[in-house]
This record gives sequence, structure tokens and C-alpha cells, in this order.
Amino acid sequence: MSTSITVAGLENRPAWWHNQTIRVTASVARGWDLHHTLLSRTQWDRELLDDHVRGRLRELCARAATHGPFRQRAAATSAAETLDLTHFPVLDKKDLVENWDALHTGLVDPVDVLRVFTSGTTGQPISIDHSDRQLDYGSACSLRVLDAYGLAPGLRCLRVTCDPRHPLLDFDVVDALGPALQLNVSKVTPENRATVHDICAQFRPDAIWGQPMELLITTSKIRDGLVPALTPKLVMTHGDNVSPRTRSVIRETFEAAHCDYYALQELGQVAWQCPVEVDTYHVNEERVLLRFLPDNILALTSLINTAMTLVNYAPQDCAVPVPEPCSCGRVLARVRQIKGRQRGFLVDSDGGHLNIKWLQTTLDGLPVAAWRVAQREAGTLHIDLAYDAHSSAAAEIDRLRAGIADRLRMSQVTIGVSTPEAVIGDSGKVRQFDLYATQETVADNLLGAS
Ligand SMILES: [Zn+2]
Repeated sequence: MSTSITVAGLENRPAWWHNQTIRVTASVARGWDLHHTLLSRTQWDRELLDDHVRGRLRELCARAATHGPFRQRAAATSAAETLDLTHFPVLDKKDLVENWDALHTGLVDPVDVLRVFTSGTTGQPISIDHSDRQLDYGSACSLRVLDAYGLAPGLRCLRVTCDPRHPLLDFDVVDALGPALQLNVSKVTPENRATVHDICAQFRPDAIWGQPMELLITTSKIRDGLVPALTPKLVMTHGDNVSPRTRSVIRETFEAAHCDYYALQELGQVAWQCPVEVDTYHVNEERVLLRFLPDNILALTSLINTAMTLVNYAPQDCAVPVPEPCSCGRVLARVRQIKGRQRGFLVDSDGGHLNIKWLQTTLDGLPVAAWRVAQREAGTLHIDLAYDAHSSAAAEIDRLRAGIADRLRMSQVTIGVSTPEAVIGDSGKVRQFDLYATQETVADNLLGAS
């Protein structure tokens, strides 16, 4: 039986070609190879690393000269000799939205691009296209971090989540690393406590992985006896900036090494916490180049993405460069005091904490110009929706209100309907979530109670 398919653009490819799982699996092999032949060596050898980065920069300038937006093409020609990226204009999120077409190189078949969306917590979500190298480097960079912390593939990883869409317990495999048990700590109750204890005891996680807020909620469930005390070798955090008090809670609770990642949907994993000089992060220079604009604002350049040209991209994150060599011996550039985003959590009518993803996706799917959510006390939510022309029928708003109250276990949801001007305001930016449950408030409670 033939396995060919006839979707336009895919005529000559096998039917399994665009199976996401197969592409990810194939990238694991390439990622392991990349780690073995490149990343495990360049991190100790400045000359080798510089040589590699120069090669990537030459490739990037050549590509931007022919496949970039107008302003970048001119810069790429000037930068071709010196490989000096200061010639390139700085791009912000708005530039990414307005020049979306121009920033695409057209070098990767549209059916082959890996499309991700930025979270949009600070404004409009942006779709970013990557080439397969993104998956390869994802595996390779993860292997490098594990190796730095004395762990190896095959480790058992407990992923903690507070996403209302996730079940209480689920089994998975973390790409390139090993088996994963996913535990939705927001769904642990006295009724299912025994099951959770039993499965965690059998799984014996080597590592725990989650967003900083999810680790805090896990801690509070451990204190309440709903989740068993855990003794991993490593705690990994990602997503949001970790506040100093969250770090203290994680240290007290798990007594394990803690590795935090700085990563963006736009670029993947940018930097990771050094196991020796723990207040600094090593930059994955093989894939991302960092420049510092005034006030320590970061301008990031992807050295691996052939689908989209991201040069001097400034998402308004900040970090302080650390010029001194690291005592761990790695030559990778270092930064400290990374300042990116920090998102709050929703609190349901029982005091349970939930992350914002489901609500954000739901509101993004509405035909509105903008939206805004505020929570001042547990179990209540206020949402403002801004319609361009005609507003939705009252019945639809009622259905939305009931759906949100049910899914997020809120006793009261109010929805205000207004114009974009009223919601967006003069600044042109919407602060989409204004929530009282933040890392600061949750970590303070836990530190105060210990
Ligand atoms: Zn180091």
C-alpha cells in the first residue's frame, strides 16, 4: 500500500512526514549528536566557540542580505565583513507583528515550519516560525544542562502543573530526557491524596520541573500533606522570572540543586543557571547572541533559525553582563539579574491556584479587539471585553460567563463590554492580567508559615 499523500506541497513526501511526534523523535537523535560533537566541547573552548559563532554569523548576514526586511538587508551588507550586529536595527514586538511577512525568509517550506505563539501576557500574541534546528538545539541544550548538574538521560522527571486543562496525573516522556509523570497540583484533594502519594512514591522523581508559581503551589500542598515530601536531585524552573523569595521556598522545601532557565518562545532556551556560581546564567552562545542596549536591555539574535530572521530582537527583558570568567570553567558568556516577565495566578472559590493559560486561550479566541482580567479576591473575576463595532449578544456573554465560572471554579464572574479605547487606553498597551496572587504573595505566606 502506498504511503504517499496528496496534500498540496506534500506530494513527494511520505505520509508520516508531518507527524509531530516523529519529527521530535528524529530531532532527539540530531540533538544528542549536536551535544556530543559541538555543545559539550564549545562550552570549554573559547576559540572553538568563537569560530563556530563567526561561521553562524556569516551565514546569518548572507541570509539577511537576501531574505530580510528592507532595513535589515542594507545592514547585512555593511555587517558582512565585520560581522558587527550594531549595524542592524533593533526590533521590538511591534516590529515583529508589522514586518511578519518580511521577516520570513521563505527558505523553509511553509509546511515544514514549526510555529509557536508567544504568551501575549504583555500584549498581542505573536506567531513565530522556527526551522527544525529549534528542536535539535532543544534536545542538545537540555542534555548540556543535565550533564552540568550530574544527571543523564533516563532520569525520572516530575512535571508539576496548575493548568485546569490537565488531568490530575498523566504519564509522558520529556523529549530527549526520559519518563515524566505530570501532576496537576491544583487538582490534588483529600479524596485523591492517597493515589497521589502512592504514584509519587513509586515514581521516585530525580527531577522536578515547573514554573516558579507551580513549584510554590506544590510546596503548599506538601505542607498540607496532600502531596508527599519529595527528594529530587534537581529542581528546574522555567517560564517566569524566579523571585528571590521563591528561591528561598524552593531551597527550603526540596534541599536540591535548583536550575532556572531563561527561555522565550521567540528563541528557545537562551540561558541557564550555572551549578557553581549560582547567581549567574550561562548563555547558549551557539544558538543565541546577546547584546546589551542602554539600561541593560537585551537585544537577542537567533543564530539557528532559518525560517525567520530575528536579529537584535528586544523583547524588553533586561540582564546584567558578567565579564569575569566563571569558576566552573565554562567559557560561555554569563549574565545575572535577568528581568523578564512574572505572571500571577488565578485563585478559585476554594482558595486553589490555577494558571492563566486556559482563560488566556479562551479570551484570545473571542472576536474582540482587546481584553483585560482583574482579580481582587478568591473566587471572583472581572473581565473587560472591547469590541470594535458590534458587541456580542447578551446570551453569548452569559454563556461565556457561565463557562468561565464553571471551568475555573469561580463563584462570581462579571463581564464588562466596552470600546477598544476604554480598555487599551492612551499607551496602546493592554495589561491583560491584573491579579493579586503573585510569586511575592504566595512565597511570603509560605516563608511566614515555616
Ligand atoms: Zn559557570
